[in-house]
Amino acid sequence: MKILRYSADENVNYGIMECDGTIRELANSPFEDLKPSGAVTHLDEVRPLVPVNKPRIIGVGLNYAEHAREVGKELPTSPMLFMKPSTTAIGPEDPIVYPHQGENVHYEAELAVIIGKPARRVSETDALDYVLGYSCGNDVSERVIQFTEMKMGAMLIGKGFDTFCPLGPCIATGLDPTNLQVSARLNGEVKQNEHTSDLIFPVAQLIAYITAAFTLMPGDVIMTGTPSGVGPFVPGDVIEIEVDGIGVLSNPVVAEA
Ligand code: MG
Repeated sequence: MKILRYSADENVNYGIMECDGTIRELANSPFEDLKPSGAVTHLDEVRPLVPVNKPRIIGVGLNYAEHAREVGKELPTSPMLFMKPSTTAIGPEDPIVYPHQGENVHYEAELAVIIGKPARRVSETDALDYVLGYSCGNDVSERVIQFTEMKMGAMLIGKGFDTFCPLGPCIATGLDPTNLQVSARLNGEVKQNEHTSDLIFPVAQLIAYITAAFTLMPGDVIMTGTPSGVGPFVPGDVIEIEVDGIGVLSNPVVAEA
């Protein structure tokens, strides 16, 4: 099932989207229930939005061995976590703003996990019961600032500029997060293409690890890490992230005004 958050006639709603683009509006947020309101619209009539408004975003660094190798880092022995400000989140077709300080800004295709209900001290076995669904994510990163921060043992600004976390186009439910192809295209050319079976710390293990410390809340997003093939982009480029069963998340890049 694909859950879409969208605007139409100034209203923002969630709906269930069918294969032909028909959208059955939900009465409430999908974090409450999936009851239909009875209203029906179509993808052609709406503007898809970021799947969660101003989400709390937890990122995972170096979660694919090939990517750790390409950036010359040791494989982590426990998940390397960081947070991205909620103001990084943008939706499908929203522009990624290339900041004035940008020197070497990279795309990072990722599987994004959308938490569905409060989760604390959840076992790996039960962890996926707390997931509402999955989305495509782009963990945009300014490398010069990021690596300067990492030398100090921190990571915030390099991954934290406004618009640095495109998410979408929908929340897909019922997927097996260990069996998904994740890819990135820059202006149509495939740059990243790897499988979530290669994740060092799979989704269930990440949720167990995080919730051993703090409560994951409905709408929280976990960015599960990027495969190899990261690289720079510039204003004028278009980046597409695709994950099996979810769809394509496309964002143009514009220079900061
Ligand atoms: Mg990342």
